[in-house]
Amino acid sequence: SLSVEAYCRQHEITVTGGEVPAPFTSFEATGLPREILREVQNAGFSAPTPIQAQSWPIALQSRDIVAIAKTGSGKTLGYLIPGFLQVKRCSNNPQLGPTVLILSPTRELATQIQEEAVKFGKSSKISCTCLYGGAPKGPQLRDLDRGIDIVVATPGRLNDILEMKRISLRQVSYLVLDEADRMLDMGFEPQIRKIVKEVPARRQTLMYTATWPMEVRKIAADLLVNPVQVNIGNVD
Ligand code: ADP
Ligand code: MG
Repeated sequence: SLSVEAYCRQHEITVTGGEVPAPFTSFEATGLPREILREVQNAGFSAPTPIQAQSWPIALQSRDIVAIAKTGSGKTLGYLIPGFLQVKRCSNNPQLGPTVLILSPTRELATQIQEEAVKFGKSSKISCTCLYGGAPKGPQLRDLDRGIDIVVATPGRLNDILEMKRISLRQVSYLVLDEADRMLDMGFEPQIRKIVKEVPARRQTLMYTATWPMEVRKIAADLLVNPVQVNIGNVD
């Protein structure tokens, strides 16, 4: 088996931060619950992708992460699986609001994340719903009322529902900003900042982005605490 250095070199993983744990180079090494391992096996996956290998052990230490990696690198399960464990660990009453909140730029992406959460979280009995604009609010509000562990939302629609006081984010302890650069490009920064004000300060925050321009660095500096930065490949 490869040394950690060789694995990181081979997969172009660079990390910045104190006492960063070694990547999980196999699913067996993760020590994840059996029902989750069974799901990844059923999906036909043979090993964690580099972003999963490096971000799982950091996320499982409850640390904040900024991950910079290109599209198609497996970021979704990179944050979903530690999110499942957080739901289990907190065992909140989902009627009082979600434990995990994922912000995503578009309806299409939010739907894909929800589908992945349903597929991989079903055997762990994790519930997940999706909130996005351009569709009636009624069914989304009814889903929320059933009690939901994980909410995936576009910033505009979540903000509307917050203003209606139909969701509480007081139980959220695991916040993900997926495709942060795209959300900022789309002008969602004011909505993101309003939403984050409703999430307790004592939380874990994970930010995923394909690029690392000044605006993204600035919002990361404002919303994350002492994050470990994980880069996969050569990113500008
Ligand atoms: P990203 O968010 O980085 O663009 P996704 O999370 O959408 O990437 O993953 C891209 C594809 O790779 C998806 O079809 C996903 O199911 C698949 N995938 C995720 N993890 C693995 C893995 N460990 N092995 C093989 N394929 C994987
Ligand atoms: Mg993605």
